[in-house]
Amino acid sequence: MPCALCDDTGWKTIEADGVRRVARCDCWYQRAAEYQLRAAGIPTRYRHCSLSNFETHYDSLRRAVSRARKFIEDYPVPERGLLFWGAYGVGKTHLAVAILRELIATKGAVGYFCEVPALLKNVRATYDAKTTDGEMDVLAPVLRSDLLVLDDLGEERTSEWVQEALAHVINVRYSENRATIITTGLIDSPDSTDPRSFIFKLGGRTRSRLIEMCEWVHMEGTDSREVGPEPTPERIAEWQEKSPTSPKNIERSRKGFPQKTAGQLKAKPRFGGREDKVDLKWPGGRAGS
Ligand SMILES: [Zn+2]
Repeated sequence: MPCALCDDTGWKTIEADGVRRVARCDCWYQRAAEYQLRAAGIPTRYRHCSLSNFETHYDSLRRAVSRARKFIEDYPVPERGLLFWGAYGVGKTHLAVAILRELIATKGAVGYFCEVPALLKNVRATYDAKTTDGEMDVLAPVLRSDLLVLDDLGEERTSEWVQEALAHVINVRYSENRATIITTGLIDSPDSTDPRSFIFKLGGRTRSRLIEMCEWVHMEGTDSREVGPEPTPERIAEWQEKSPTSPKNIERSRKGFPQKTAGQLKAKPRFGGREDKVDLKWPGGRAGS
């Protein structure tokens, strides 16, 4: 059925102070938003995520939602990005996707969702001579989109190369002042030998950058995928004891981890000689690149 306002031309006639002129029709904005939403690369399992269906059983989660609302209100000029940190299953990705979808729908934002482990895998794949995509094809939307969700930072395996690649992405977005929302299971431990800490995984410089560019919002609660949305205290106690992903058991297993000093991971810059310039020089790159 054609649009009743514009007959599918995308332009509607409006009258102001007795003067008739044309303006973009509501249906045009709606189609543009639908296109942006598809282009944002949100995985199917997160496409339903919105602020209204986010579970807020704990104070920290309610605080996180109010930070999310403030960010949406301030967009496109939020003071800083957001970094949601906390255990697995508390809804960090849900909240990040909800902000992205809301801003695409209501403010015409051009945004992009990116899972960090998949991004690094795709960048590595460009070094394979058989692929035609270059690093920049893979990195362009991540570096340039006005709004970026970087999901699961810290889930990738630690290496010099990974640290440099992530430092590059974060530095470019920081220096271009582009809004970034990060989700991570890393913890902010001052102990640089802790394998789950920001310092160990990303290096001290990148951690400092993240502090400057994002407001850190801690989210804690139980894993709703394991205990259900309305858990009883008994159910939570049982989960804490038995689940390998409960905060208690993560703490226990951390004590048994093999420890590596931050010095062993020391990286010399290879990505982005200058922070504001895209200049990837990876020795494993394609011949001639
Ligand atoms: Zn229309």
